[in-house]
Amino acid sequence: MNYANIKDCDIADGPGVRVSLFVSGCRHHCKGCFNAETWDFNFGKPYTEETEEEILRLLEPDYIQGFTLLGGEPFEPENQVILVHLLKKIRERLPKKDIWCYTGYLYDVDLIEAGKVYTEVTKEMLSYIDVLVDGEFIEAEKDLSLEFRGSRNQRIVKREEFKLEK
Ligand code: SF4
Repeated sequence: MNYANIKDCDIADGPGVRVSLFVSGCRHHCKGCFNAETWDFNFGKPYTEETEEEILRLLEPDYIQGFTLLGGEPFEPENQVILVHLLKKIRERLPKKDIWCYTGYLYDVDLIEAGKVYTEVTKEMLSYIDVLVDGEFIEAEKDLSLEFRGSRNQRIVKREEFKLEK
């Protein structure tokens, strides 16, 4: 997996001050995407064990509320396999930090068993996520007044609301 950017002081993608990872690779190709260069899975830098340690270190200060995963598309199957390890480590080492994730896939359609991008690690990955912002960006539903999302169709789904069985 490649990644486009790590932000060490992100105040736009979830509550409080956060560390954010923008992964590379996205098959949605939404019209008006804010980050089209990340559609290419080869964009940016290779994600390595050092990258993972850097993220964990950046998350340590008390003023950092949590971690946000976005892209690109974190739930592309080839990205899930890598990211599940990172999320597990954050949960183990820094259990007080909250985890947000942005995805263009719909959690109750694409991320359930037999869904478009369901893999052997999807459930585990979701189990580490506190809040999922789901749905593609739809330019016609763009609304700058929305907090933490770009278009009205997108949903902010808390972990307790996940209904992942069919
Ligand atoms: S899912 Fe996100 S990164 Fe992918 S095309 Fe849509 S807006 Fe862009």
